[in-house]
Amino acid sequence: MTKKEMACIVCPMSCHLEVTLDDNNNMIEVIGNTCKRGEVYAKSELKNPVRMLTSTVKLEGGLYKRLPVITSVNIPKDKLFDVMKEINKIEVCAPIKVGDIIISDVCGLHADIVASRSVECTDGDNRTESNTCNSK
Ligand code: SF4
Repeated sequence: MTKKEMACIVCPMSCHLEVTLDDNNNMIEVIGNTCKRGEVYAKSELKNPVRMLTSTVKLEGGLYKRLPVITSVNIPKDKLFDVMKEINKIEVCAPIKVGDIIISDVCGLHADIVASRSVECTDGDNRTESNTCNSK
C-alpha cells in the first residue's frame, strides 16, 4: 500500500486529500475531502487527470490586444502543451462574441477553444457575424 497526497481543485476550499492505493495503484480510501466530489476528483486524477485550459490569443482590430479563451471541456493534462502550441499559432480579428469557436476540435481531442468574452471593433464596425480571421 502507498499513500499519495493531492489538493482537490474542484472548488475554492482546496481540501488536502490523502489517498491510499493498493499495490496495483487502485484507490482504496480517500481522507481529507469535505464532500463526495473530492473522492471523484481523486479517482479521476489518478486514472485520467484532466484540466480546463484558459489562455489568450492574439487579437487584431479590437479594444484589447489579446482575447481570453478557454477549452469547451476538460482535456487530458498531458495534452496541455500541445494545445498551447495550437493556441499560440492563432490570431483573430474583432468583433468576437463570447462563445465563438476559435479552434474546432483542437488536437483531435473533441474539445474546442472558445472565446470567453466579447470584444468589439475599435472602428465601431460591430457586425453581427463574428470574424475569426485565424491568420498566422
Ligand atoms: S473535497 Fe469538496 S469541498 Fe473539498 S475542495 Fe473538493 S469539492 Fe471542494
